[in-house]
Amino acid sequence: MTEQDVTRDERAAELAANLAHVRRRLATACEEAGRHWREVTLVAITKTFPATDVRRLATLGVTDIGENRDQEIRAKLPDLTDVPVRWHFVGRLQRNKARSVAGYADLVHSVDRTELVAALDTAAQKERQEPLGVLLQLSLDADTKRGGVTDADLLALADRVAAAEHLRLRGLMAVAPLDADADAAFARLAAASQRLRAQHPEATAVSAGMSGDLEAAIRNGATHVRVGTALLGGREKLVR
Ligand SMILES: *Cc1c(COP(=O)(O)O)cnc(C)c1O
Repeated sequence: MTEQDVTRDERAAELAANLAHVRRRLATACEEAGRHWREVTLVAITKTFPATDVRRLATLGVTDIGENRDQEIRAKLPDLTDVPVRWHFVGRLQRNKARSVAGYADLVHSVDRTELVAALDTAAQKERQEPLGVLLQLSLDADTKRGGVTDADLLALADRVAAAEHLRLRGLMAVAPLDADADAAFARLAAASQRLRAQHPEATAVSAGMSGDLEAAIRNGATHVRVGTALLGGREKLVR
């Protein structure tokens, strides 16, 4: 072991222990819900943590990495050209970042308005061979300032994505409201997913659940959980 080998240092051991704990939580939640653990993809949310942590997680077998800011992902990618992970974009997306995100993302979790659909479709055509995977972010509270399309506008937005040649509609994403019961919130997401699949049977993904509420998400049919703190530790408040 050399000092430079970041995949075998103290931090790597800490991440391994955290990952084992999260995987046990996922396995237990799946078992209790009568689901197979393979139905749920763990997306490690590495925002504010360095590229070396992405490398460590990949070495530990994590295949899916998510972040919420294009600029931060862009800064890490040059250090990770030899690290084979799928990138998930989970944050508020500005139209002028569409082309950048289309260049590296496997799945964009946060599409919530029609102007983004057109921008991402054009971007995907320019930047990719394969269509870009898209989840529609559903707002689970009345306040859409935190992002998300309303229940009322969901199916119209879904039709837009499905009609876009270079995008592939894959499902829904949501963040549980801070002050609400996570089970109740994710049950509404599950109901919306059912309505979506009635129109678009291929849109089976449900991205829900974070460090604090992944069990509730799995009980309510999540196929992707987005886990940051429980894997990587607490984040410093991000200064912009
Ligand atoms: C940061 C973030 C997460 C991870 O949250 P934790 O509570 O740290 O697990 C999940 N989803 C989104 C959209 C995020 O921005």
